[in-house]
Amino acid sequence: MTGQRRTARALTGGAGLAACAGLCALPDRPALAAVGLYLAAVLAWFAVGYRAAHHRTTAEAAWERRRVLGEAPPPLNPCCLLATTSGGQAHDARCTDEFRRITLHLPDHPWSTP
Ligand SMILES: [Zn+2]
Repeated sequence: MTGQRRTARALTGGAGLAACAGLCALPDRPALAAVGLYLAAVLAWFAVGYRAAHHRTTAEAAWERRRVLGEAPPPLNPCCLLATTSGGQAHDARCTDEFRRITLHLPDHPWSTP
């Protein structure tokens, strides 16, 4: 279990508790109910992000495991998270596209690591 999955579960539990608290306060205190439901929505949104990060981490680990065992797995879609945020202009060291991973370490590459 990754730390991201543990955090996602904790956030999901917190969202459920906040939703219950908001619904319990609903008939008498609508402002408190709104705060509770808003907090539940924010916590649930964070939980979705952490759950997606967990799935990405496990997919990258499985891809790397297959690569180390001698297979030639196809790159994940997207190949890496930096490519997603940079529009495909940059790739990080954990990129699952073999060509991008090789060219990342060339000395004249702008994103190369020493
Ligand atoms: Zn990439």
